[in-house]
Amino acid sequence: MRRAAGDASAGAPLADTFGRVHRDLRVSLTDRCSLRCTYCMPEQGNEWLARESILSLDEIERVARVAATAGITTFRLTGGEPLLRRDIVEVVRRLAAIRTPHGPVEIAMTTNGIRLPEVLPDLVDAGLGRLNISIDTLDRERFAALTRRDRLDDVLEGIAAAAASGLRPLKLNAVAMRGVNDDELVDLVAFAIEHGAQMRFIEQMPLDAGHTWDRTQMVTRDEILAALAARWELAPVPGRGGAPAERWMIDGGPETVGVIASVTAPFCGDCDRLRLTADGQLRNCLFSTTEYDLVPVLRGGGTDDDVDRMLHACVHGKLAGHAIDDPSFLQPARGMNAIGG
Ligand code: SAM
Ligand code: SF4
Repeated sequence: MRRAAGDASAGAPLADTFGRVHRDLRVSLTDRCSLRCTYCMPEQGNEWLARESILSLDEIERVARVAATAGITTFRLTGGEPLLRRDIVEVVRRLAAIRTPHGPVEIAMTTNGIRLPEVLPDLVDAGLGRLNISIDTLDRERFAALTRRDRLDDVLEGIAAAAASGLRPLKLNAVAMRGVNDDELVDLVAFAIEHGAQMRFIEQMPLDAGHTWDRTQMVTRDEILAALAARWELAPVPGRGGAPAERWMIDGGPETVGVIASVTAPFCGDCDRLRLTADGQLRNCLFSTTEYDLVPVLRGGGTDDDVDRMLHACVHGKLAGHAIDDPSFLQPARGMNAIGG
């Protein structure tokens, strides 16, 4: 296959047409999950990806190796629930062993925390570097209603295991929801501080499988900050770089709290992220409606150069921003669990 006009040479940095250089690949390992969060998955009737379409360990490692050669330095494992993948420790071990001309890569994971007590020591041994754990409420009944599973205790045990591990910074994520957990924001921050973690609140995005997202119901960045400022003095932390979260120092620090305001204060201009779905589709944005299919390359005898070409094509097609607030915005067909959060 020849390189099309505009394609970079093999191993060239993943720079898009707006000059954004991509360093972070989010790898979704499965679309399955032990929870059914309302903002992410339907209660039932989800159409699961066919098992044979899920990328194997070797296929994931191959894409990651080529991506690292093209400048990706961080792999964030996600899903669905990444810990449901049986070979999760091996995935971490293989990716952590990748070396780039600039040194080792970083392996991070976003998880609901269930199963962490069981597997965390092996994950750390395999080379996991950072953890984000999602927890939207500390109230058992609310948790059961929101996730449609009565498993708050399992998540709390997972967070305790992470807190006891050496992995830092440890981040806890909560989607702020009106009438669901918006009266718990201060408690969640206090809980995170007790566990040596950084709390981060996420504005709810239109990625639920049920397509029920309503802009007017969303708890905004400004509302989140107002709730926290009623309890603490908040001072902005400078030097955000490409990070999705804006951070504030709490009462002079050292603790901080973050807000990921994808809807009201999008950070697309600094985005350095690409995504690989569990079934081998490259995406240049959570909200993209275009996917770049790596499967024919991976399973049809394509070379590493072909994988690299596909990575560059995906980056080349990236738009300036996601335009959630634009009336013409179209929600992607897949839910968050199938895209990879
Ligand atoms: N299962 C893991 C977890 O929950 O952490 C990883 C996958 S989940 C899709 C990744 C992150 O996406 C979680 O922090 C979750 O809260 C967030 N998320 C899911 N749906 C969302 C939505 N509609 N808006 C904002 N964040 C969402
Ligand atoms: Fe599962 Fe995470 Fe989606 Fe909740 S947010 S349903 S834990 S994938």
